[in-house]
Amino acid sequence: MKPVCVLGNGQLGRMLRQAGEPLGIAVYPVGLDAEPEALPIQQSVITAEIERWPETALTRELSHHNAFVNRDIFPLLADRLTQKQLLDRLNLATAPWQLLSDAAQWPDVFARLGELAIVKRRTGGYDGRGQWRLRQNDVASLPADCYGECIVEQGINFSGEVSLVGARAHDGRTVFYPLTHNLHQDGILRASVALPTPDAERQQQAESMLAAIMNELDYVGVMAMECFVVPEGLLINELAPRVHNSGHWTQNGASISQFELHLRAILDLPLPAPVVSTPSVMINLIGTAVNLAWLEHPLVRLHWYEKEVRPGRKVGHLNLCDTSRESLQQALSALAQDLPADYAEGIAWANTHLKKDSA
Ligand code: ATP
Ligand code: MG
Repeated sequence: MKPVCVLGNGQLGRMLRQAGEPLGIAVYPVGLDAEPEALPIQQSVITAEIERWPETALTRELSHHNAFVNRDIFPLLADRLTQKQLLDRLNLATAPWQLLSDAAQWPDVFARLGELAIVKRRTGGYDGRGQWRLRQNDVASLPADCYGECIVEQGINFSGEVSLVGARAHDGRTVFYPLTHNLHQDGILRASVALPTPDAERQQQAESMLAAIMNELDYVGVMAMECFVVPEGLLINELAPRVHNSGHWTQNGASISQFELHLRAILDLPLPAPVVSTPSVMINLIGTAVNLAWLEHPLVRLHWYEKEVRPGRKVGHLNLCDTSRESLQQALSALAQDLPADYAEGIAWANTHLKKDSA
């Protein structure tokens, strides 16, 4: 098996490394300032867990590497302007948007997009950072350096958020997980629920959208598509050319995790559709110190990233899967006792989801 070098050494790289281990795939997550000489770069397939990077000795070397999978797709998707242009070109529904280049545009923006405008930095935003929710009276609070560097979108009054994680092989074949339901608070993912039998029509719509995108780009590997659910169907919020937080439940809830799926795709290994036979719940651990009491709950699988705990920072996640929705709900309610109070809403949301879709 060829080794894999992952540009970026955060939790996604760490989990790719973990997924490679049982298959005998050596995965090297590398920080941007790593010495290229210390790595088996020439023999490796290169992937990334981040979407953009500055020029360093390492990234300069990788920019010429002929096995850097999807190399030229990252810049296109890392800029929200070119990402939205791609979706428009493919005629795929997104939140109505425009480039925000000048404060004089505001009257037109509100006339066109409605009373709530969401301003997003073209590059570098994550977990709701680099994003502003503005009504007409708030526009003066927007930093001046946003003009030209941001897009503005219509604030969507969605009934829910879902994401589709899928993968495309070198030969163009695509495989997908069931749609994942996601709860975000203040722009950060708090909890996900995935069910083995999603709404067939919505699943089909999402798969054909993501397949169209991956085919257009001649993409290889795992890609995630975040969507808003509106009465007309799905609106694409954004794309991530990598493994994604909303796919973390697949580590314990699918026959092939998204991390293994990505490695298989980029290494041109067999890529069957992952089998999902139980409901799964993922709870993100955000700014919370590790608590061994979580391990008392038999359905709880802890994934801890060994990062310094800081407010608002993703430091781990908990996965729960079981064939019985009742057992899952009971486990979640018991787990809530061992989590800070701000997790209660995410757990209640997951529980209603498990109940609602059980009919
Ligand atoms: P990520 O960490 O997923 O990359 P991000 O900070 O890049 O997130 P988005 O995914 O664009 O940003 O937005 C984060 C969340 O903010 C969304 O999941 C959604 O809850 C809310 N949001 C974003 N855009 C809109 C919109 N146009 N209308 C309503 N809510 C929105
Ligand atoms: Mg997002």
